[in-house]
Amino acid sequence: MNPPPTYDVAVIGGGIVGAAIARLLGGTSLSTVLIEGRDDVGDGTSKANTAILHTGFDATPGTLESELVARGYRLLGDYAAATGIPVERTGALLVAWDDEQLAALPGLRAKAEKNGYRECELVGADEVYRRVPDLGEGALGGLTVPGESIICTWTTNLALATDAVTRGVTLLRGHRLSAVRETGSLTLLSFENGAEVGARWVVNAAGLGADTIDKLYGYDRFTVTPRRGELLVFDKLARPMVPLIVLPVPSKVGKGVLVSPTIYGNVMLGPTAEDLRDRTATGTSAEGFAFLRSKGEALMPALLQEEVTASYAGLRAAIDRNDYLIDLDVHRRYLLVGGIRSTGLTAGMAIAEHVAELLKEVLDLSARPDLPPPPRMPNLGEAFTRPYQDAAAIEADPAYGQIVCFCERVTRGEIRDALASPIPPVDVDGLRRRTRAMNGRCQGFYCGAEVCALLENGVA
Ligand SMILES: Cc1cc2nc3c(=O)[nH]c(=O)nc-3n(C[C@H](O)[C@H](O)[C@H](O)COP(=O)(O)OP(=O)(O)OC[C@H]3O[C@@H](n4cnc5c(N)ncnc54)[C@H](O)[C@@H]3O)c2cc1C
Repeated sequence: MNPPPTYDVAVIGGGIVGAAIARLLGGTSLSTVLIEGRDDVGDGTSKANTAILHTGFDATPGTLESELVARGYRLLGDYAAATGIPVERTGALLVAWDDEQLAALPGLRAKAEKNGYRECELVGADEVYRRVPDLGEGALGGLTVPGESIICTWTTNLALATDAVTRGVTLLRGHRLSAVRETGSLTLLSFENGAEVGARWVVNAAGLGADTIDKLYGYDRFTVTPRRGELLVFDKLARPMVPLIVLPVPSKVGKGVLVSPTIYGNVMLGPTAEDLRDRTATGTSAEGFAFLRSKGEALMPALLQEEVTASYAGLRAAIDRNDYLIDLDVHRRYLLVGGIRSTGLTAGMAIAEHVAELLKEVLDLSARPDLPPPPRMPNLGEAFTRPYQDAAAIEADPAYGQIVCFCERVTRGEIRDALASPIPPVDVDGLRRRTRAMNGRCQGFYCGAEVCALLENGVA
């Protein structure tokens, strides 16, 4: 039998965090493999969140999370500009609905300043309604957070993974790790599909599965509790009502329900926060729907008159401590990246940087001189020019003028490009994350058959 392929570093988990770490290691002369248990990268928590690029204004000062969210905000903002990940700098407004919340606002501004964020301003009720005229009655005042932004989480994950692959990282999809065996200087990783990989160092960035992998190493130091967040997506007609992110004043029981524009031109309401046991429970529930409707009625009754076009849920990898859990075991050549709960989209690139800081004590992480440029990602953002709007692009390539998905105005050219990309989709959901096809108000009712045929047979 042939010996298994062997790498300097194996990164387990193809979410935003694992992809960011693999990208960074791909910039060195180490051989790296990025291993994902599902059939695609970005198919776990990183595909189903509220997609806000956080300033970190409300993080707990002094925690690793607060440091890495603030740093990640800048790193991802710059990376988005370089790669074409769409970002809208909408800003956010925290709204106080009772005296207790109003009294909490100055403290939140002070907390933001402790986190190094000095842009927040207290505003009165008049200013709150001037900024968001459709808010429900009863707002008493607010706190502005001008830096909060909306971003495309799908493109973020794909850009980081594509960059990693372009830099020479091997990507294995459909490889769910089931066993580890430490043999001298190598760790042998075994997968549910029967494959094996050897690695000198292992980074566990498995999100909801990080504690399970940690236990394979014999550790018993944390438990992941899947904390479900359900969201409702409203039709694009509602978008003008929500010019910025409307945040609740956080309380002891959590961050609460927000209303936000989405990067695809919709509005979303959510998320809920419900601790579950089942790590696969990404379905939505009647209770979640009713809860969000009741919250929405108070926040913005006019929004509830608009149509809900979709609902979805994501699972935060909550753990029993109030911070990220990132730990390097030099002797076992194993690094854990656990507890990346509700801020990992923003912090992912800074987490990768932090991981590199730890690893550089034991590995040569000098940058390779021959790095390829970062990938240029297709634009999925509604606020920026898309191929169907680009006369020059259509003239050069008529496939950009042939619309397949009419709700989201996705063209044959974009589907063709996604199928030919370095990490092509393997199913319609993956194609949706790369193009927006079937993501609109009809949810694929009209274009589903054609999209499936293009996925199956390719675009001639
Ligand atoms: C409702 C909700 C709202 C959120 N809102 C925001 C927000 O607005 N802004 C923000 O910054 N963050 C937000 N987050 C948090 C953010 O989405 C996560 O922190 C981030 O996606 C975590 O990325 P990850 O790579 O750690 O995890 P994942 O994306 O879950 O990636 C881990 C990967 O590991 C794989 N894996 C697991 N076990 C194995 C195994 N045994 N073998 C191989 N692979 C394995 C999984 O399949 C998965 O793909 C939100 C989260 C939720 C749920």
